[in-house]
Amino acid sequence: MNTAYVALGANLGDPASTLRAAFGALANLPESRIVRCSSLYRTAPVGITTQPEFINAVAALATTLAPESLLDALFDIETRFGRQRAEKNGPRTLDLDLLLYNDQFIDLPRLTLPHPRLHLRAFVLYPLAEIAPTLIIPGRGSIASWLPAVAHQGITRL
Ligand code: ADP
Ligand code: MG
Repeated sequence: MNTAYVALGANLGDPASTLRAAFGALANLPESRIVRCSSLYRTAPVGITTQPEFINAVAALATTLAPESLLDALFDIETRFGRQRAEKNGPRTLDLDLLLYNDQFIDLPRLTLPHPRLHLRAFVLYPLAEIAPTLIIPGRGSIASWLPAVAHQGITRL
């Protein structure tokens, strides 16, 4: 079994309902089960700040899917939830990012692991720290050491 962490984010429609349904979709992935789900968090948008607030969360999966197969399955769930890829950091019905897969480093055009921005974003670090407080981010050190730097980013646990 491998451990994978997936970040969920949404800011269109009813994002909290979307994330709860998305947890259900993750639970139904082949060769996988959900080990832990974080609380939902309300966060201010990054980049394009004139869009609705986001709801974010993180799930830990135990899986035998290979990293790229898991990424494909996440994209498939995004599509089923009506995602249309428009602008980067723009509004979306559901964004699923693969944050970590064991302690693997992957550098492919469509998959970078660890996720290259995970240690810079409160909306990833807070829910991730909730479900994995002693996690070591490969190449970056302990998750706890990264939390203070993002404490100023607006985030509220629901
Ligand atoms: P973002 O999540 O950065 O707002 P997108 O969801 O549109 O933007 O993803 C942009 C691209 O990032 C996708 O085409 C995907 O192949 C690539 N990508 C690279 N590494 C990852 C990862 N670890 N998790 C999810 N997508 C990734
Ligand atoms: Mg994404």
